Amino acid sequence: MNSMCLNSVIEKIFAGTWIAGPSIEDAISEAHKFNAVKINGIINYLGEEFNKIKNVDNAVEIYIAVIKEIRKKHINSDISVKPTQLGILINEKVFEDNYLKLLHFAKKYNVFIWLDMENAKYVNSTIKAYLNGLNTKNSGICIQAYLKRSIKDIKKIVARQGIIRLVKGAYVENKRISYNSWDKTTENYKRLLLYLFKNSDNFTIATHDLQIIKYAEDLNEKYNKTINFAMLKGIKNRRLMALAKKYSAYVYIPFGTAWLQYSIRRLREAGHLKLILKSLLEDQSIEKYKNGA
Ligand SMILES: Cc1cc2nc3c(=O)[nH]c(=O)nc-3n(C[C@H](O)[C@H](O)[C@H](O)COP(=O)(O)OP(=O)(O)OC[C@H]3O[C@@H](n4cnc5c(N)ncnc54)[C@H](O)[C@@H]3O)c2cc1C
Repeated sequence: MNSMCLNSVIEKIFAGTWIAGPSIEDAISEAHKFNAVKINGIINYLGEEFNKIKNVDNAVEIYIAVIKEIRKKHINSDISVKPTQLGILINEKVFEDNYLKLLHFAKKYNVFIWLDMENAKYVNSTIKAYLNGLNTKNSGICIQAYLKRSIKDIKKIVARQGIIRLVKGAYVENKRISYNSWDKTTENYKRLLLYLFKNSDNFTIATHDLQIIKYAEDLNEKYNKTINFAMLKGIKNRRLMALAKKYSAYVYIPFGTAWLQYSIRRLREAGHLKLILKSLLEDQSIEKYKNGA
């Protein structure tokens, strides 16, 4: 098999499980399927680390088209954007201007917009842009539990009534600034989550870690909040459907052709071949389980 052919085989496998497909229509149609089982979408256009303004402008246009399609097709879906798609590599102002432009556009269409969190070097500027756009009240920001600074960031954002999507963190970071083991990251995730339960009225628990999900459900017995769970498409779809029966649930739906970097992060998280094969081969179809079968 030549490398181009191998590439397209791998792409097909990922496209079917972790990624909706290359086009906006693929993302919308995937969100529509999840909506039928009471799961809201979070649509993300694949691609990152853009250092050419034409790629940045193109990403902004694509998100505008996605927002319009969400409304036109009556889809329940947020969008999630990456600072490095919106121009942070060119300069902070380009990023922030693009983010605020999308935020105001999304507001007009009643669409919620998330800021993904990327490498630690972008955290300050990402939070700054987020706080500068808070007045529209249709935005949330991802915070990574593996970063030691995150408790401070969460306190600052929650004090301004910002909305947090808590994740473990998907990039490779320096040991000085991050918890470098699964145990410590998980422990910090729980600590941050407890803070959110005590101090925030609206936050999203974005994880596939079943012990964290159980911990959150237990905390909710005591704090009785409106909690949201979110997972990535194709990892534990059936588990998410079960959560959607009790809580509000979201699935992160990437689409586009730049699938490689996203897929490498997912492969790294799965850790070993057994889990990768399990998530790829396990029946992730949602239609079949619509009626709880
Ligand atoms: C909705 C959502 C949005 C996210 N946004 C961001 C973001 O903006 N920035 C960021 O840095 N990270 C983001 N992430 C990724 C996140 O940081 C983690 O890297 C990822 O969710 C894996 O961590 P976990 O909490 O699921 O726990 P883990 O302990 O890694 O995983 C828990 C269990 O889930 C299963 N599992 C996890 N991943 C896989 C996989 N790929 N294949 C097969 N099984 C798997 C395994 O059974 C594992 O034991 C997001 C995650 C979600 C769910």
